[in-house]
Amino acid sequence: MSCSNSIKSLLDIQDVNIIFDENCVKEGTYKGKRCKYILGKLTYTPTHCVKCGVKNTDFTVYKNGTQLSRITLPITGINPTYLLLQKQRFMCQSCQSSFTAKTPIVQRNCFISQNVKAQVILKSAEAQSLTSIARDCSVSPASVQRQINQAAKQFIPHYKALPKHLSFDEFKYAKGEMAFESINAESGDILDILDRRDNLTIKKSLYCELQFD
Ligand SMILES: [Zn+2]
Repeated sequence: MSCSNSIKSLLDIQDVNIIFDENCVKEGTYKGKRCKYILGKLTYTPTHCVKCGVKNTDFTVYKNGTQLSRITLPITGINPTYLLLQKQRFMCQSCQSSFTAKTPIVQRNCFISQNVKAQVILKSAEAQSLTSIARDCSVSPASVQRQINQAAKQFIPHYKALPKHLSFDEFKYAKGEMAFESINAESGDILDILDRRDNLTIKKSLYCELQFD
């Protein structure tokens, strides 16, 4: 396996358009913390212009410089890991617009990799605090909350009604673990009992109530 493919395998990057050179891993600091920077390049020949749609024949769309992005990756070893990705810029002769190469490892205008987002969601189901997840995934607590909110949205099929007044309680169950219950405050009916108290599980539960109420 080539050096580039070994690094991609290590980082779980499948995009064939990203390549790594030898000696692409550098030690550094970010916001005063030690970290690892991995330098990569993203380039390809576009089939068409993403702005006007013209087919790319005879260099209608040509390569025109690069743009550097810092993308947060899952931690490798003990320090935060960032991909410094040199993204190819393209210029279209037909519409005179320029655009940047895309990669599925990160959403447009976002600097947190999809793998980190997936990691946040997995950890949020383990009753870990927002700050602890944020630290483990090298992102801010606000970013963690945003990912949880976005994941929870997938569980909203349609709006019906939860009881007007809800109350919540926590109690100890097996092995001293805490469980969470949601209750209709007027009737006293228990709506749900959860063996976890994390944000994502509670939101999922409430959205399921909306679905089946
Ligand atoms: Zn164009």
